Amino acid sequence: MTALRDLRLPDACAAVLAGPDDLAGWREQARRLIMAAVPPDRVVWEVPGEETGDLFASEAGQLPTASPGAAPPRVPRGFFELAAKAALHSNPQRFSLLYRLLWRLQTKPRLLEDAADGDVRQLHDLARAVRRDIHKMRAFVRFRAVEQDEDVDGDAGEHFVAWFEPSHHILRANAAFFVNRFTALQWSILTPAGSLHWDGKVLREGPPARREDAPGGDPAEDLWRTYYASIFNPARLKIGAMLKEMPRRYWKNMPETALIPGLIAGAQAREVAMVAQGASLFTQPRPASLAAIAAGIAACRRCEIGCTGTRAVAGEGPAGAPLMIVGEQPGDCEELAGRPFVGPAGQLLRAQLGAAGIDPAASYVTNAVKHFKFTARSKRRLHQNPTAKEIDLCRWWVEGERELVRPKLVLALGASAARSVLGRTVSVQQVRGQAIPLEDGAELWITTHPSYLLRLEDQPRATEEARFAADLRAVAARLAQLTG
Ligand code: URA
Repeated sequence: MTALRDLRLPDACAAVLAGPDDLAGWREQARRLIMAAVPPDRVVWEVPGEETGDLFASEAGQLPTASPGAAPPRVPRGFFELAAKAALHSNPQRFSLLYRLLWRLQTKPRLLEDAADGDVRQLHDLARAVRRDIHKMRAFVRFRAVEQDEDVDGDAGEHFVAWFEPSHHILRANAAFFVNRFTALQWSILTPAGSLHWDGKVLREGPPARREDAPGGDPAEDLWRTYYASIFNPARLKIGAMLKEMPRRYWKNMPETALIPGLIAGAQAREVAMVAQGASLFTQPRPASLAAIAAGIAACRRCEIGCTGTRAVAGEGPAGAPLMIVGEQPGDCEELAGRPFVGPAGQLLRAQLGAAGIDPAASYVTNAVKHFKFTARSKRRLHQNPTAKEIDLCRWWVEGERELVRPKLVLALGASAARSVLGRTVSVQQVRGQAIPLEDGAELWITTHPSYLLRLEDQPRATEEARFAADLRAVAARLAQLTG
């Protein structure tokens, strides 16, 4: 924990922080210092492993006690938000700057509005650089699969490891993002300043690592290259903007960057070919495991929904499941849990499947679109239908899942799911309750989406639920024939 170090000389005091991102420690001590009326030029902020650059650091002394009845510091809105970012900057003077600002704010509460003030400008510069670094880490971390020893239960899953060199102290600040994005995977992020390890349930922090501790190339790199080549849109190529967004210093850890010179060189030809053929951008071989598909889905930014920063929800269930159930897209609960069909529609679906004699846990459950599309209304996130284009872009992943699971029967819930499997729009009411042969020998069955039932009331609901139950019984009977 943080402590105010008791030093010999009374002239200046040393505020000692627990680590380079110890904002809580800074806040606590800054508050005490303001209440003791200690001016900024008499405080030395000490961070383990950092040179303060302060000539008088070694002479700093004890903190004067707060004047009796001293008021706690006044802090205008927005200051702590900026400070929370600026505190993560690698500039060794950042905590001094923050304290100087806090001190000055006590007599000039509108200081932050003065954009010409040097301290205010520097605060914004530091915060901006940190935000940018956080964003870069989210965009450019690349996991590589490594062999993992069996655990106590005899399970040997895939473990993904990434190496990243942040410019600032952002590792801990980014932890929740990576846990949310890659909840279903087991991963480690190694950096020269520390490491994070997620085992699917618990996040642990570890010591600094070296580049050699992270694995080199592997098939996941092929996935990234494949994926990047497939989403690289030559018609949108702006080299300057690309370099600004993806500075060269990150390239060495990103397998797909090896493709950039070739892709740029061939951009014009590819654009012409694309326009001529109307070719799909996803023309490459697909990832060869469900875990790699999940990693690809989590990183997919091909459509606008994928770019909104919500968590992707991959399919769930055993490879080799005889039944694959396709919904529309994750909802609010699914996005939060990172799992498909766990909210109200999922509960209704699972109850009805059980009543029809279908074990949901033995089925592979997924969605046509892997990200939650919503519009925000005050604190609520209201579902929005995906467009045909969004369904068609995400189809590449659904097809990949189907190739790996190889179900005998696919059950599509609603029109979006049906489009995802068939590649064209059909009327659910016209085709429900009958087998539609698929090119790989499987059968597609279509019924309504359980969310539709949830929107109905009274008799219409009872009628539609009975039809839904009858469709599921027909699916169960056909599945028994196909697997019998
Ligand atoms: N609706 C869907 O289509 N899928 C889910 O996962 C949840 C609700």
